[in-house]
Amino acid sequence: MQNIKFDFQNKSVVVTGGASGIGFRISSLFLAAGAKVSIWDYSEDALNKAKTELGQFASQLHTVAVDVSNRASVTQAAASLPWAVDVLVNNAGITRDKSFAKMTPEDWDAVISVNLTGLFNVTKTLLEKFNPSSPNKRIINISSVVALYGNFGQTNYVAAKAGVIGMTKTWGRELGRKGFTVNAIAPGFIRTPMTEAMPKEVLEQMAAKVPLARLGETEDIANAVMFLSTDQASYVNSTVLSVDGGLVV
Ligand code: NAP
Repeated sequence: MQNIKFDFQNKSVVVTGGASGIGFRISSLFLAAGAKVSIWDYSEDALNKAKTELGQFASQLHTVAVDVSNRASVTQAAASLPWAVDVLVNNAGITRDKSFAKMTPEDWDAVISVNLTGLFNVTKTLLEKFNPSSPNKRIINISSVVALYGNFGQTNYVAAKAGVIGMTKTWGRELGRKGFTVNAIAPGFIRTPMTEAMPKEVLEQMAAKVPLARLGETEDIANAVMFLSTDQASYVNSTVLSVDGGLVV
């Protein structure tokens, strides 16, 4: 018998979209638990800010500017990795919300290329960069609760996030024998810079729909990612963990 305490010393983690919001919190918690972390993010400014905030972990931290929707950029980022990978967290994502009637092909393409093709690009490129001898390789894909239930104004986002669940289940089947588990997390309404920008009344209405009567915190998602990344979670595979305060019971 062993109590689980998050200890990721001797593990290395890649977090896409790791300079902001949920990804930043995931990166911070892994660093605090002793992991080496490579933050992949779009903007140099956001990466520099993250590097400053995570200064105390400088020796464990690697950052790289990357556009996950661009294969050449992903190949370059992978080549810059100083460590073999144990855990990949596919977290980078964008929204371009509009009702279906108003959604443009550009809105569709932008979200599909980052939120769906981005996962294909990153995971395919990093597969050969995983620590080959590890029996506990982990891929965790950040989907969304809306992938399970649909959402007004999010045809592109819901399609991409539902596709992420499909990829998760397929990779779980294909990669299980090679020492991987592959799981998805479906966050509900989480407080991030993105949601903070919304009007207070809208946030209150969102919180009122949650049985726990509050929005989720980035730490709620990061803790679920950490659990799925442990060696002790080795029999959890191809599943979707909703972390939404019971929003969709
Ligand atoms: P966020 O604060 O906007 O963080 C997303 C990060 O991904 C940003 O740093 C962003 O960089 C980066 N990114 C965007 N496009 C990229 C690209 N092409 N290549 C590399 N990095 C890119 O969003 P968040 O709220 O933390 O969301 C994180 C994940 O959780 C997303 O996949 C989102 O869909 C999912 N999620 C969030 C919620 C929620 O309530 N917040 C709910 C369900 C699911 P820039 O800022 O420079 O563009």
